[in-house]
Amino acid sequence: MSHLISVMVHTPAHSGIGGALTYESEIAHPPGTLVRVPLGKRELLGVVWDKTPSAEPASAEDALFTTRGVMQLRPIASVLDGMAPLSAHWRQLVQFTASYYQRSAGEVALAALPSQLRELSNAQWMRRLKRKPKAVTAYEGTDPVTPEPTAEQTQVLANIAAYQGPFLLFGNTGSGKTEVYLRAAQSVLERDANAQILVMVPEINLTPQLEERFRARFCPQWGAECLVSMHSSLTPAQRLKNWLAAHSGEARIVLGTRMAVFASMPHLQLIVVDEEHDPSYKQQEGARYSARDLAVYRGQLEGAKVILGSATPSLESWHHSRPATESAPAGRYMRLSMPSRVGQGALPLVRRVDMNRQPYKTVFSNHLLDAMRERVTRGEQILVLLNRRGYAPVLSCNDCGWKSECPHCSAYRVFHKLDRTLRCHHCGFTQPVPRACPSCGNLDISPLGRGTEQLEEHLAELLADIRRPDSTPIRIARIDADSTRLKGELERQLAEVHAGAVDVLVGTQMIAKGHDFRRVTLVAALNPDGALFSSDFRAPERLFSLLMQAAGRAGRDATMHTVSPCEMWVQSFHPLHPLFEALKQHDYPAFAEQQLKERAQATLPPFSFQALVRAEARSQEAAQGFLNAARDAGAALADELLVDLYPAVPMTIQRVANIERAQMLIECTSRKALQHFLTCWQTDLHALRHTHKQVIRWAVDVDPLAI
Ligand code: ADP
Ligand code: ZN
Ligand code: ZN
Repeated sequence: MSHLISVMVHTPAHSGIGGALTYESEIAHPPGTLVRVPLGKRELLGVVWDKTPSAEPASAEDALFTTRGVMQLRPIASVLDGMAPLSAHWRQLVQFTASYYQRSAGEVALAALPSQLRELSNAQWMRRLKRKPKAVTAYEGTDPVTPEPTAEQTQVLANIAAYQGPFLLFGNTGSGKTEVYLRAAQSVLERDANAQILVMVPEINLTPQLEERFRARFCPQWGAECLVSMHSSLTPAQRLKNWLAAHSGEARIVLGTRMAVFASMPHLQLIVVDEEHDPSYKQQEGARYSARDLAVYRGQLEGAKVILGSATPSLESWHHSRPATESAPAGRYMRLSMPSRVGQGALPLVRRVDMNRQPYKTVFSNHLLDAMRERVTRGEQILVLLNRRGYAPVLSCNDCGWKSECPHCSAYRVFHKLDRTLRCHHCGFTQPVPRACPSCGNLDISPLGRGTEQLEEHLAELLADIRRPDSTPIRIARIDADSTRLKGELERQLAEVHAGAVDVLVGTQMIAKGHDFRRVTLVAALNPDGALFSSDFRAPERLFSLLMQAAGRAGRDATMHTVSPCEMWVQSFHPLHPLFEALKQHDYPAFAEQQLKERAQATLPPFSFQALVRAEARSQEAAQGFLNAARDAGAALADELLVDLYPAVPMTIQRVANIERAQMLIECTSRKALQHFLTCWQTDLHALRHTHKQVIRWAVDVDPLAI
């Protein structure tokens, strides 16, 4: 007897086939089984799915017709034997992601599986399975000392043990959040011999320390294989290996970036999302999911506890963790606070420099320079933060006003002095720097503005006469996307800073995150003003969190600043801005309250819910035309559901690589109504795509982070 089974495959986006396809099989494979199925002339990896009544045959030509005219389905091609089916929870997570973020479940499911599962032949797969698991290898490392928890840590851990959560761990930088994760994990592992833990981090290569701390804590007891990592810089073979270890239950801890939220973990009991506010938890293509939000959903689905941790939580999570008031009940997260730093480490004293009172074109105020000189002489380290890489953001002609525009984008190309190129940071278009102005031939073309490369050069001149305590010359280094392009470079450069071989580190936000630099006592932020007046309502939130994180790099070791307290310097033309006032007090709650008040008044998230539709075409007119047609098509339903559809507008960077980009904002105070609208409206969008042939691509972004 043969069975009809539904199989989820990744059909091309917008092909119109959204759900599972129906195939025939001799054996009734249970849902979650991985199979290969024919589709047209190809063979695809698919997941046997729960019976869906709407499952269609794999397109008309795929359905064979018998002589009696009865449609006969094609049989599945093969089964990936030797592996337990993916769980019902995993399938539900995929299904939810697809419907919430308006993509097909097949796309989400297949993107969540390691690519080698798609690529290996049956013979290769069988060989892969026969590979004997190595005997548990002993972990080679020194037995770490596990510190006694502080009073705040003890309190937080007791709450995590007693309640179901989800928890927002609001802990200052250096308050010992990681130690809380480690202890919470420890007790889960000890309580249940199968239990698994998922730990998510924003960017794994920025925080190699965290993985090391987890290994050092757990590998001596549970073996070197108890922890696997999942992130995009693994090779396909490593990724498959780690994925299988998690899926089989052999790996007790999975440490990974946003993709890890889809790891198949049959005994998941705890999920940690470290630096939960970090924008890199949001996927920016395909299904544009928020791994943080999915972690909360997954925890609820599987009965696993969820801990979101941050010193500067996203305003969404802060709002969700609000305490009850007389007039309103508490939010659905439980807020746990750790205000103190471990040990004697004090938070830095924030000093603001009013740049209006500095001579024109000042880069470093004299006071700041003096402070830097003094500290280097004492053997302390300094971080200088500037969120703009390259030498100068623009090159310009002093005669005719020519500027180094990118011919393919609505943006300037950045001047990189080291290799004398003009590089577009949007499309990558790179050319050697012209010797004379391309427009008027004038030889006098010069950089406008300043990037990290120039800052490094400039500082080397300003501090040339400074000696370290051992009388050797000062050492200045730079860490940004350019200096760390080669594999392994970032790790090497960070190791140098940790080893004390660097006195002044210049860099972009890459240097602000997570690092436990022990000797840093001064952090300087130059020119952070741009974000104060951005059109993106989240810009202040991002700036505040960046500055708080940066400040958190200073003074982590109390023995380092016995002479004078550690400091964070901010040079600004708006030193009295409330954002800097809150920074000065290290007062995230005050900042959050002020921002939430503004957002409530303007009905912005978290007091409303948003989606963006973006469209790309050769002309701005075509891109906007498509969006406005979609707006007309959805208008009646939007009205009914109280959903606001705004007119189409060009994106902030309107043209990239000669493609015009436009977007349209959709807003509603009810998440449910917005979801309902988007689901119904999909059909209109797909249909309009056929009448607007100039549109190259379009996509919906639910809960977009950048507007
Ligand atoms: P966070 O993750 O909140 O920035 P960490 O967990 O990295 O903080 O802790 C900061 C420093 O304090 C680390 O060097 C860590 O080893 C140390 N630490 C954390 N908890 C304790 C404790 N209970 N006793 C002693 N040292 C601790
Ligand atoms: Zn010119
Ligand atoms: Zn460009």
